[in-house]
Amino acid sequence: MDKIYLDNAATTALAPEVIDAMVDVMNINYGNPSSTHSFGQAAKTLIEKVRREAATYLKVSPSEIIFTSCGTESNNMILKSCVHHLGVQRIITSPLEHKCVAESTQELKKLFGVEVVYLRPNKKGDIDLDQLDEALGKSDKKTLVSLMHANNEIGNLLDLKKVGEICKKHNALFHSDTVQTIGHLDLDFSAIDIDFASCSAHKFHGPKGSGFAFVRKSSGLKGIITGGPQERTMRAGTENVVGIVGLGKALELVMNHLQEYQSHIQKIKNYTIKKLSENIPGIKFNGRSAEEDRSLFTVLSALLPFNDPMIGLKLDMEGIAISQGSACSSGATKPSMVMMMVLDEDEMENGTPLRISFCHTTTESEIDRFCEVLKNIFESHQIEKVNS
Ligand code: PLP
Repeated sequence: MDKIYLDNAATTALAPEVIDAMVDVMNINYGNPSSTHSFGQAAKTLIEKVRREAATYLKVSPSEIIFTSCGTESNNMILKSCVHHLGVQRIITSPLEHKCVAESTQELKKLFGVEVVYLRPNKKGDIDLDQLDEALGKSDKKTLVSLMHANNEIGNLLDLKKVGEICKKHNALFHSDTVQTIGHLDLDFSAIDIDFASCSAHKFHGPKGSGFAFVRKSSGLKGIITGGPQERTMRAGTENVVGIVGLGKALELVMNHLQEYQSHIQKIKNYTIKKLSENIPGIKFNGRSAEEDRSLFTVLSALLPFNDPMIGLKLDMEGIAISQGSACSSGATKPSMVMMMVLDEDEMENGTPLRISFCHTTTESEIDRFCEVLKNIFESHQIEKVNS
């Protein structure tokens, strides 16, 4: 049985070209980038090439790219440094953020008395920008707005440009968790008033343990890991040269195929919506998930019309890897905060959320098999219902 992987929002398979590039570095470029001899300088050159590539992709300056170990570290660094070094006293955010942002803001509240204001999303998971404008106008405290670009569970997209304009109007700093969009969307930070963003290579066929933070130079942000002068003292520690090269190769592949990948994945997503709707009467799609212009093409969040806490296991036994929400909270017995925001109590009791996430290698025949297996599970629930 061929396995089917539909959990690309959790992580993606390494691209073969990425593996090759990383193996080369492991074999040849083992120098420490801080060393002044040729081994060190060769490694340093590789890192700087990736920095320039990442900067070109985002249309920012190379000095605004700070390599880190992952999206979680990037988000932690930005949020915590804003409080420690930039005097931020208030964070405006939403209950839909990834745990690494949500937990960081809560910690900053507990340990440093930072005021945390939560915007209330509507039942579709939209952030109300008038609410943001109003909240920003309510206080003179130095404020950071932290709102994610694409939600990792329902795919809802935020209008970064509009949020940036509102933040600028109120002289607030703006951070967006862009972990689900960097490597998938064409981004132009030269046209957006955004101060900070985060990237994780494993979300776009790069390696785990490699990411970067975008830090606008004018923000004056400093690092929180101190030690050597690496990353212009923004992040001490010998650089993960292999991981950075892997990130660079993954980004290069994406940049060369952006439109092609996007149109293939969007087609697959539309096909999945159609097949699921045909095969499972009563199925719903959460948030803006099924709306092409308002959600990320890689993520589809469905609500199955039956309650089955074993759904992940049942699909796994059929060779289909999928998650019910974010990977970080899978295995949790409680529904995620995102699901609590977009579903009614009745929907949570009688339905089962499922996150289907795609990549450029996902095929229609994989979707056909997935829909067939899901249909069988659905029918077994129908029979059970009739018999009970
Ligand atoms: N932010 C979002 C929106 C994510 O989806 C994830 C990963 O699931 C992260 C942050 C954390 O990224 P990493 O796994 O690189 O720590």
